[in-house]
Amino acid sequence: MRLQGKVAVITGSAGGIGKSIAETFASEGANIVISDINAEAALKTAEEIKTKYNVETMSAVCDVAKLEECETLIKAALDKFSKIDILTNNAGITKDNLVLTMTEAQWDAVIAVNLKGVFNCIKAVSKSMLKARQGRIINIASVAGQMGNAGQINYSATKGGVIAMTKTCAREFASRNILVNAIAPGFIRTAMTDKLTEEKKKVISSTIPLARLGEVSDIAKAALFFASDDSSYITGHVLAVNGGMYM
Ligand code: NAP
Repeated sequence: MRLQGKVAVITGSAGGIGKSIAETFASEGANIVISDINAEAALKTAEEIKTKYNVETMSAVCDVAKLEECETLIKAALDKFSKIDILTNNAGITKDNLVLTMTEAQWDAVIAVNLKGVFNCIKAVSKSMLKARQGRIINIASVAGQMGNAGQINYSATKGGVIAMTKTCAREFASRNILVNAIAPGFIRTAMTDKLTEEKKKVISSTIPLARLGEVSDIAKAALFFASDDSSYITGHVLAVNGGMYM
């Protein structure tokens, strides 16, 4: 059990990659805080994981775009578990459009969740982690933040920003043994990519050396590495989990 007794908060974890990370951490003995914008789905996932893995869980509704809600989330987690060892910033959205036709609302919405949301949660958790002189922060970025992606000026900007924030926080928190790393997934099969047409998925697969989309468990295994002692001398790293799409 690599995370026995640890406490992990995972944002946007009612489903998709976040849920898979939560399950993987729970399977290694971590107690889990499922937080999501969808209260009902978060509660269902928290109950499911508690039963399946025999760990303590709690669910919390939190829109990461709102600092106050992130502070409430962290306070609730600390009230229940007295500590937070791992924060995984996973919540993210897309609102794709070409530059010419992207609306201000599409730009603002993605910046608020994907970029400000990561800042909000790191800020909210930082006090308790700095005091504890230990912690792990894992940010879910994207290959789009590394190589750009036509039709995703808002999304790619946020994910590039997440990579920059990862490195800044890694430098800022290193003296207190808080390690901050990012995972840059390629195209992973989730609700987010289900929105793509079959034609688009075929085109994407043709650009991936492994010639297929990834699975949520591929990302969860990378997150487990960053959460565990196996990565105790690694900080500020961006791990590409993308089937070779971008090297
Ligand atoms: P997903 O299936 O859509 O899951 C995202 C979760 O975040 C959903 O449960 C969603 O709730 C929740 N959420 C949305 N807005 C939120 C907010 N403001 N506050 C809190 N939670 C919110 O997406 P995913 O594919 O698992 O993506 C997870 C992360 O991986 C994201 O950061 C994404 O950018 C990144 N990523 C994904 C891929 C991919 O190919 N799937 C590739 C690269 C990076 P609702 O369902 O109720 O909206």
